[in-house]
Amino acid sequence: MSLPGVKCTVSSCRFWKSGEHCDASAIEVNVDGGGAHARQSDQTNCHTFQPKNS
Ligand code: SF4
Repeated sequence: MSLPGVKCTVSSCRFWKSGEHCDASAIEVNVDGGGAHARQSDQTNCHTFQPKNS
C-alpha cells in the first residue's frame, strides 16, 4: 500500500509507483549537508531512496 499523502516524482527509486506514489513503509527526509535547518524545499531529500537496480 502506498504511503498516504506522499507525492514523489523520483521514478528511479525502487519504492516508486506510477501516479507519483511511494510504496515504502516509511520514509526518512533530511536536510542536504546535515543539520536540521533547511530554508527551501530543494535543500531536503528523501534518504529512504534506493536505486531500482540495487
Ligand atoms: S522512498 Fe523516497 S524517493 Fe523513493 S519513492 Fe518513496 S518518497 Fe520517493
